[in-house]
Amino acid sequence: MVKVGIDVGGTGIKIGLVDRQNRIIRENAIHTRTDIPFEEQLKHMADCVTATVKAEGLSTDDIETIGVGIPGIASAKTGEIIKCTNMGWNHVPFRSVFNRYIDKPVLIDNDANVAALAESVAGVSAGTSSSVFITIGTGIGSGIILNGRIWSGAHHIGGELGHVIFDLGGVPCTCGNRGCLERYCSATALIRMAREAVSDHPESLIIQSVSMDPARIEAKTVFDAAQAGDRIALEVYHHYIDCLAQAIGSVINLLDPEVIVIGGGVSKAGSFLLDPVTREYPQYVLFNDQPLPPVKLAVLGPEAGIIGAAMLS
Ligand SMILES: [Zn+2]
Repeated sequence: MVKVGIDVGGTGIKIGLVDRQNRIIRENAIHTRTDIPFEEQLKHMADCVTATVKAEGLSTDDIETIGVGIPGIASAKTGEIIKCTNMGWNHVPFRSVFNRYIDKPVLIDNDANVAALAESVAGVSAGTSSSVFITIGTGIGSGIILNGRIWSGAHHIGGELGHVIFDLGGVPCTCGNRGCLERYCSATALIRMAREAVSDHPESLIIQSVSMDPARIEAKTVFDAAQAGDRIALEVYHHYIDCLAQAIGSVINLLDPEVIVIGGGVSKAGSFLLDPVTREYPQYVLFNDQPLPPVKLAVLGPEAGIIGAAMLS
């Protein structure tokens, strides 16, 4: 028996077979298509699942469960996807339609929740019963694990750290509000801060290193320039670290998990990100004169999507 993990993304859908040791034994992928009806989208996924188990010398009878991680929200009870903007899904009966093609238990959850689960079972937070996973990329995703299970709230809308208001009336967010945390803590935010900073400082290494083209500034550009000692880059970097430290302090004030895990593209900065954040965050924690949760880097990387989806139960 194998478990199937499906990682639904805006450009591609990854499908993997996962064994009992939570290892991916075979992987496959299809392009995300939003130009076809919902039923057809699911048929493409189901066909890929069937082809993948066949390639492994198995049949769909050997499938134990099919877990699906989506960039949106879903009801674990009904199998309905409530909202998934990238796919154009709004209150769609995912499980019942998918079961027309493959009649096996289908479990659906948010992609950051699924990654949080994967890290808490087979990754850096393995062995803990409570953790908060924060993925830092274009936006901020987060997943809360309590008592070894995903906590997505009473109405499936919790764990959205990225849209906690950080600065009332602040920077406009893609969600329509202003001042959301992801406008200050994501890679997009870091790049925005860098562009603002270099507009008055053309001598900065940030802009020099991208041939004076602000559109080419990436998170790594800022980290590299800061590491090289560029004054403007260091200012941006310190401000960004401070924002992230405040975010982590807030998570601890609210939930006090055993561990906080950082993943996503920005986490590639490694100890250059982790060390100062770890030094800074205690000042934002109310009861900080005692041991506090460690902040660790995620270890499963992009595979967390498939592994975590396969772990859903
Ligand atoms: Zn927002």
